[in-house]
Amino acid sequence: MGATEQIGSIDKGLKKELAELSGQKLESCYMCGKCTAGCPVAPYQDFGPHMVMRLAQLGNRSLLKSKMIWNCVSCGTCYTRCPNSVDPGRVCSAAARIAKREDTVADKAALALREKFVESIKNHGRLHELTLAVQMKMASHDYFADIDMGVPMLLQGKFPIFAHNIEGLHDFQKLFEKHYVEKKDDHKEGGK
Ligand code: SF4
Ligand code: SF4
Repeated sequence: MGATEQIGSIDKGLKKELAELSGQKLESCYMCGKCTAGCPVAPYQDFGPHMVMRLAQLGNRSLLKSKMIWNCVSCGTCYTRCPNSVDPGRVCSAAARIAKREDTVADKAALALREKFVESIKNHGRLHELTLAVQMKMASHDYFADIDMGVPMLLQGKFPIFAHNIEGLHDFQKLFEKHYVEKKDDHKEGGK
């Protein structure tokens, strides 16, 4: 394994790929930290979006082992706060795609949640929360966490028992296949 392939090393190829996949001018970020100050998930992660940008600028491969890239919820707050119109959320997403391909996923539960979420959208055109909740419970074997919240929600009809497909599901699925490129791109690049 060459030096540039080691986690934490500097990899100009990674920097280039992150810039291409995210569509962001990485050098436009000057580390002001406004993105991290507004990011709703940063306080619970290993670091915030400004550090994602710094590691991306450096092509530092430790970014691919970050929890932050898996727990970004694409809310866009960072982008709206950035004085330089940089979108760290897109860089998180690009880094997550590369981490998945290179099997350096730091938060497997977040990856499973993302995949099940997309599967539900693909199958029904919308999220079926109950199926997703059951799938995540089975994956984690943590069956009773949140039960005090889940049961009342179920009884109040907040979690429909059966999934309802959107109108025009067939047309939606054709669009989904055409435009949801993550899986196809990763496959093309030799990933999972
Ligand atoms: S898009 Fe991601 S990185 Fe940006 S503020 Fe939202 S959660 Fe944080
Ligand atoms: S707000 Fe913009 S310029 Fe400031 S640290 Fe975040 S990405 Fe960089």
